[in-house]
Amino acid sequence: AFDVLVVGGGPAGAAAAIYAARKGIRTGVAAERFGGQVLDTLAIENFISVPETEGPKLATALEQHVRAYDVDIMNVQRATKVIPAGADGLHQVQFESGATLKTKALVLATGARWREVNVPGEQEYRGRGVAYCPHCDGPLFKGKKVAVIGGGNSGIEAAIDLAGIVEHVTVLEFDKVLRADAVLQKKLASLPNVTVHTSAQTTEITGDGQRVNGLVFKDRNDDREHKVELAGVFVQIGLVPNTDFLKDTVALSRHGEIEIDARGQTSVPGIFAAGDVTTTPYKQIVIAMGGGATAALSAFDHLIRSSVS
Ligand code: FAD
Repeated sequence: AFDVLVVGGGPAGAAAAIYAARKGIRTGVAAERFGGQVLDTLAIENFISVPETEGPKLATALEQHVRAYDVDIMNVQRATKVIPAGADGLHQVQFESGATLKTKALVLATGARWREVNVPGEQEYRGRGVAYCPHCDGPLFKGKKVAVIGGGNSGIEAAIDLAGIVEHVTVLEFDKVLRADAVLQKKLASLPNVTVHTSAQTTEITGDGQRVNGLVFKDRNDDREHKVELAGVFVQIGLVPNTDFLKDTVALSRHGEIEIDARGQTSVPGIFAAGDVTTTPYKQIVIAMGGGATAALSAFDHLIRSSVS
């Protein structure tokens, strides 16, 4: 059995594995895709101390750093079930491949994925005008026109944030009304460079073959189509945590995130979690890495205090 098994190989999982391995304990990482969301990212400009890098480059560096330690890396392994420890004190993780791994302490770091609008152009121009993270990509659109799809809290927060950087923001909400908190809506309404369309269904993101140049939306009141010229589209219709395999094991928030305390402890003793999959606010690489370190140190603390040997 492992002392610490990490499920997930993104920034949080990699940090957890390194921190655990440095304690000289038996450590494993099982991940569906080592590197996680970082693999899908082009420019990264907010990884502190590295002014500029690219996702695949950072993902390779993550893996190399983990490989510098005695860690069992099991890539292309999708966890399907977690069985919390019984009398033997060992948690079990079952994988799609049929394998089962046992561990004294478990760190869950399976991340999240952005909900997509599923319209023509979204995949084609992903990273070339179609963006999901205003904290990450907002500055790339300085002085340009952008749209935000989604009028919930994250959409309106993004629109307010972007309005301070870009020339103009168009907000598109499918529903008849914005669903964001009143205080955010009030702030949004006070901004001179924001236009809001409700009952607006985005039907296509258009481009010139290289980059986004606009989008098309349908006014759901009269079915008329409208075109907007833009340089970027921020999709803000939700972040889905990868917790399907955890039903009825650890406590989840109403958004499906793993509930953790300040030490990364979940509702089950010996099971810790870190990164985008948790209730930790702000889903960012540096934050996920910090969470991974916290979870691994807590796991180590748990091991030295528990009687399982
Ligand atoms: P993830 O990176 O999501 O990694 C999750 C890991 O778990 C992966 O290895 C995955 O394969 C694995 N996994 C999932 N389910 C299972 C399962 N059932 N079994 C086994 N393994 C599983 N952040 C920034 O700070 N700066 C940026 O510039 C930036 N740009 C971004 C651009 C894009 C397009 C995207 C999508 C995100 C961006 N982010 C950025 C956010 C950042 O990538 C995430 O906050 C960060 O990757 C979270 O790390 P994580 O380890 O928690 O999760």
